[in-house]
Amino acid sequence: MLKHKTALVTGSTSGIGLGIAKALARQGANIVLNGFGDVDGARAEIAALGVDVFYHGADMSRPAEIEDMMRAAAERFGRVDILVNNAGIQHVAAIEDFPPERWDAIIAINLSSAFHTTRLALPAMKAANWGRIINVASVHGLVASAQKSAYVAAKHGVVGLTKVVALETATTGVTCNAICPGWVLTPLVQKQVDAKAAALGISNEEATRLLLGEKEPSMQFTTPEELGELAVFFCSPAASNVRGAAWNMDGGWAAQ
Ligand code: NAD
Repeated sequence: MLKHKTALVTGSTSGIGLGIAKALARQGANIVLNGFGDVDGARAEIAALGVDVFYHGADMSRPAEIEDMMRAAAERFGRVDILVNNAGIQHVAAIEDFPPERWDAIIAINLSSAFHTTRLALPAMKAANWGRIINVASVHGLVASAQKSAYVAAKHGVVGLTKVVALETATTGVTCNAICPGWVLTPLVQKQVDAKAAALGISNEEATRLLLGEKEPSMQFTTPEELGELAVFFCSPAASNVRGAAWNMDGGWAAQ
């Protein structure tokens, strides 16, 4: 379905971003890979699906590096057809203990980076009259949790940005939607499980059950594979009039 298309997925070396990149690659899209850590492992997993993979290591907190990545992607593939704004970090602390530099980093990486990639990708998408912008927000773009001020503020911002971009592209072949996952067992969440286990002196398994039990009625993690399939749906012809949605895949979290 996505042969000859190019998908740029920020933060795609791990977790949800890698899951989405692989799902889009399975549909034939070439992939612009971004993020830190095990770049070679991610590149190999995606390339094994038979598509072209191009890596750019832009730090999503730095607008000049984002501009360089968008320019390099266009040079390599002609244009970015599918933009998945996924890179994100977390920090958990009460607001009066929240380090201001962590606040700035979370707003820059989780929110402002999507503004920069979107403003840079849109002209070519509009010219082609086809494009898909998929913002990986969170159930925390819809509801709040204590101790996550910067994350919740950034994710609510991402949902707002999604709606504005959807309105500004409403009469074109470009759509913009957000995905709002509940708990997904990635390194980002494993750190929170580990912190809970250490703080309460309990096992990893008990901490996992507690974490799910507090928020997620299904008592199951959403998987990167499931989120990848939702991204594929947003790219399909059937989704061409899905615009400005904030679609939760959260085991019932936001239904409570
Ligand atoms: P992860 O830690 O597994 O992956 C994060 C990715 O972002 C990695 O590839 C990392 O290298 C990259 N990254 C981090 N800082 C970066 C920077 N400055 N520049 C470029 N890349 C950077 O985490 P994940 O759980 O897969 O999270 C992906 C997205 O999904 C995030 O936006 C997160 O907020 C969101 N999300 C996660 C969950 C969850 O339960 N895991 C739930 C809802 C939303």
